[in-house]
Amino acid sequence: MASFDAIIIGAGQAGPSLAGRLAGAGMKVAIIERNLVGGTCVNTGCTPTKTLVASAEAARFAQRASEFGVVLDGPVRVDMKRVKARKDRVVAQSRDGLTSWLSTAANMTFIRGHGRFVGPHEVRVGTETLTAPRIFLNVGGRAVAPPIGGLDQVPYLTNSSMMDLDFVPPHLVIVGGSYIGLEFAQMYRRFGAAVTVVEMAPRLIAREDEDISAAVEEIMTAEGIEIRTAAKCLSVAKSGGEIALTLDCSAGAPVATGTHLLIAAGRRPNTDDLGLDAAGIATDNRGYIHVDDGLKTNVEGVWALGDCNGKGAFTHTAYNDFEIVAANLLDKDQRRVSDRLQAYALYIDPALGRAGMSLAEAKKSGRSVLVGQRPMARVSRAIEKGETHGFMKIIVDASTKQILGAAVLGPGGDEVIHCILDIMYAKAPYTVLQRAMHIHPTVSELIPTMLGELKAA
Ligand SMILES: Cc1cc2nc3c(=O)[nH]c(=O)nc-3n(C[C@H](O)[C@H](O)[C@H](O)COP(=O)(O)OP(=O)(O)OC[C@H]3O[C@@H](n4cnc5c(N)ncnc54)[C@H](O)[C@@H]3O)c2cc1C
Repeated sequence: MASFDAIIIGAGQAGPSLAGRLAGAGMKVAIIERNLVGGTCVNTGCTPTKTLVASAEAARFAQRASEFGVVLDGPVRVDMKRVKARKDRVVAQSRDGLTSWLSTAANMTFIRGHGRFVGPHEVRVGTETLTAPRIFLNVGGRAVAPPIGGLDQVPYLTNSSMMDLDFVPPHLVIVGGSYIGLEFAQMYRRFGAAVTVVEMAPRLIAREDEDISAAVEEIMTAEGIEIRTAAKCLSVAKSGGEIALTLDCSAGAPVATGTHLLIAAGRRPNTDDLGLDAAGIATDNRGYIHVDDGLKTNVEGVWALGDCNGKGAFTHTAYNDFEIVAANLLDKDQRRVSDRLQAYALYIDPALGRAGMSLAEAKKSGRSVLVGQRPMARVSRAIEKGETHGFMKIIVDASTKQILGAAVLGPGGDEVIHCILDIMYAKAPYTVLQRAMHIHPTVSELIPTMLGELKAA
C-alpha cells in the first residue's frame, strides 16, 4: 500500500489548487483523475461554453452590422469547424498547462484512474491501493437525463457531447430552460440553427424573480428562439428524419420537433461509484456529500469540495471551497462556507450578473425591503452600444441599510455586479455606494442614481 500525507480524488476546480498548497507546505500528495484534468469547467463547462459564446457574439455583431452603419458585402456565414477549432485551442491550453504542472510539481504524484474507497482512509485506483490521513473529494457532477419515455431509443446530446459538434444542427430542441440550456440556445441560434427551448416550469430560470425571467424570455424570443414554458416532456420518438417530443402543455402545439435534441435538465454528483459506503461517508438522498461549515464530512480526515457537496454549483464556489479548506488546515484562518454570498452569472448576451437574494427571497425573509430599478433603455452606455434589453435592480434592507441582493441584466452585467457584491462583503451601508463617483459613460454609473431612487417593495 502506497502512503501519502494527502490524497485528492478529482482534478477539477478545487483539487489541483489544494494539491499545490499542500505539496507546497511539504506534504506528500497524490491526486487522482479518471478523465480530463480541469474537470467540467475546463473541458465541457465554463471555458468551452464562454469561448463559443464569444464566437456567437461575433456572429450577432456581424449580423447587426448595418445598424451601426457598417457594410458587409454578402451574408454573414459561420464556419462551425473553425468555431470548434478555436474553442478546442482555448480548452487545450488551459488543460495542458494544468496537466503538465500536476505531473511535474514537487511532492506531487499525479495518478490517472478511477479512485474508489475501500476503507475510511484507503483508496483503490486500478490495482493500486493508497492510504493517507487526509482525503479530499473533488469529484464534481455530470448531466442527468429526466425520466422521458423513449429517451433511451433516440440519440441526444448533453453539455459534454455538444463539445464535439462541428456543424450547426438545422433545428436544435433543448429540454431545460435554465442557465445551461439558455446559453446553448442563444449561441446556436446565432450560429444559424432554429432553436426551441422546452421548460416544464411556468417560466424560464424559475429561481429568479419573475421580471428577470420575463426579460430573459424577451431577449430570447427577439432573436427568434421558440420558448415553450409550462410544457412537460412526456415522451420522445424518432419521426421521419427528426425527433419529436410529446408535451403535456395547456398552450401551444402538443409536439415539439427538431433534428437534434439537447438535454440540459439538471446534474447529479459523481458520488455513486466512489465506494462511499466502504468509508462510511454520509450523503443526502440525491448523493450530495454531507459537509459541515468547514467542508469536513462525517468521517474524520475526509473533506468534500466543489459540486459534490451541494453547497454550490459553480467554479467560483469550488475554488472558494479550496480556499476555505486551505485556510483552516494551513493558515490557522477559520474561514467558513456560511461567510460567502451567493453570486453567479448567466452568460447569455446581454449577461445577467446576480448577487445575494432575489426580491422574492428578501421579502420571504420577513425584512422590510427597499428596491431600486433602472431599465437599460435609460442607461446612456447601453443606448450608445445599441444594447437596451434588460434592466438592473437592487434590494436593500430598510433598517440596516445593507444591500441584500442585486441583478444586472445588460451590457457587462457579469462584471458590473461585482461593485455591488464587494460592498455587500464589506457589510457597508448602501449609502457608501450611493456617494461613490463612478465613471461616465458606464452601466455602473447608474448604480448610485438607482440607489437614490429606492422605494418600499
Ligand atoms: C455547460 C456548463 C457551463 C458552465 N458554466 C459555468 C460558468 O460559466 N461559470 C461557473 O462558475 N460555473 C459554470 N459551470 C459549472 C462548473 O463547471 C462546475 O461548477 C465546476 O466545474 C465544479 O468544479 P468541481 O471541481 O466541483 O468538479 P468538476 O469540474 O466536475 O471536476 C471533477 C473531476 O473529478 C473527476 N472524477 C470524478 N470522479 C472521480 C473518481 N472516482 N476518480 C477520479 N476522478 C474522478 C472528474 O473526471 C472531474 O475531472 C458550468 C457547467 C456546465 C455543465
